[in-house]
Amino acid sequence: MLRVILICILILIFIQQLMIMRGRKKRHQVGHDELTGICNWEHLVQKAEALRRSDKPRYVVYSNIAEFKLINELFGREKGNEILKKQADLIREQAEEGWLYGRVGEDHFVVIVDQDKFHKGYLYGCRKELQKVLSDSVYNVRIYFGIYKTEHFDEPLESMCDKAALAIDSIKGNTQEIFAYYDETMLENALKWKRAVDEFDEALAAGEFQMYLQPQICAENGTLHGAEALVRRIKADGTMIPPVEFIPVYEKSGLICQMDRYIWEQAAQKLGEWKKAGKEMRISVNISPKDFYYIDVHETFKHLVEKYGIEPQCLNIEITETAIMSDIPNLRTELEKLQKSGFTVEIDDFGNGYSSLNALKDIDVDVLKIDMGFLRKTENKSKSRIILNSVVKMAREIGMPVITEGVETIEQVNMLMKMGCDTFQGYYFSKPISVGEFEKQYMKE
Ligand code: C2E
Ligand code: CA
Ligand code: CA
Repeated sequence: MLRVILICILILIFIQQLMIMRGRKKRHQVGHDELTGICNWEHLVQKAEALRRSDKPRYVVYSNIAEFKLINELFGREKGNEILKKQADLIREQAEEGWLYGRVGEDHFVVIVDQDKFHKGYLYGCRKELQKVLSDSVYNVRIYFGIYKTEHFDEPLESMCDKAALAIDSIKGNTQEIFAYYDETMLENALKWKRAVDEFDEALAAGEFQMYLQPQICAENGTLHGAEALVRRIKADGTMIPPVEFIPVYEKSGLICQMDRYIWEQAAQKLGEWKKAGKEMRISVNISPKDFYYIDVHETFKHLVEKYGIEPQCLNIEITETAIMSDIPNLRTELEKLQKSGFTVEIDDFGNGYSSLNALKDIDVDVLKIDMGFLRKTENKSKSRIILNSVVKMAREIGMPVITEGVETIEQVNMLMKMGCDTFQGYYFSKPISVGEFEKQYMKE
């Protein structure tokens, strides 16, 4: 009898131990990422609590694999998972005492490390090793790291990770950089961007986006060749916001089409008004490559010239060299349609992109706009002068008119005239001005 009781007690103890072990395993699973076995977000947050308000300077290193969804689609989820597991392994291998780390989102990992124990080998090691998972393909696995520096670890982990992620935004798409440190301007910019998007509808309805015009001058006789339409946002209090502050945001968010259409309409309307008053003029408007994704650009322009009774030859279209060289589907066909309907297509910022001079003969556009920035930026001035000279010569030989932008000095005008340019746009002649000012200065006759 005693033996039976003893056996029962032993069985009970065994079952109890089994349950405790299971409980532990479950707790481990709850706190750990199933795929990689390292901490998940919740568990990392809990662990990080212990570091709160300490005096050790630390880094929060956040990582992001570029186009991870695409990797899953191209190579299958298994390969994607392999990459994630590899990254977790690399962190485990590199981790020294005191590192806290976890997988906190699909392809996002966080490492929290003392500043004096951090080594960049982890960052470069990841880039090199992750690529090996896809070694039999030419696909480039790009991983980016954003690093947030904290002196006292006194912010919620989520906000530190958000800031580190913002740092990544500053190098995304850049093939040379692999990591970036967060700085306060990044948050300011992000907030500015958010504000720009939030305020868009109201600003558009209130007429805050205004077309400014910058004259294009034929240098030989000082006559007006045309003007470029450049948008500005004029707020109710009179402050002017330049396009660099909102165009990239609107391009990213898709709002650019609405804004561009609005500016194109202002240009067409003005041309119609001038035409009625017997004044023929030319305005060039800017097209963002994103416009081609969202709207029928050709139809929009045809509609505008009909609505305002203007000639298509008066409403010119500027598209950047980079956009033309990119892989926007059917872009060339779209541009051809515009040209067939009588619109003039100008290639903007020529020399700023990566196309070779040779590409000129393949691009079927009507006018070449050369960016002077291209001359200013290059250190070797005499070399870039030779290149500029060749571009102008080549354009002349294939019968393509050239407009040089960003001309600021008489020396530049003289040099360019010697090369064979005759039409200029730049501060030397005039900055972009309001339509009212433009009419006062250039449209009196
Ligand atoms: P962009 O098309 O290359 O326009 C020329 C820019 O150079 C304008 O800047 C103009 O003010 C500036 N500029 C002109 N002459 C000089 C000069 O002598 N020196 C210097 N340093 N700069 C000069 P802005 O108006 O700030 O526009 C910047 C860019 O924003 C434009 O570059 C264009 O890419 C974009 N943008 C402007 N308006 C529109 C628009 O309505 N739609 C779209 N999609 N983009 C626009
Ligand atoms: Ca332009
Ligand atoms: Ca330009």
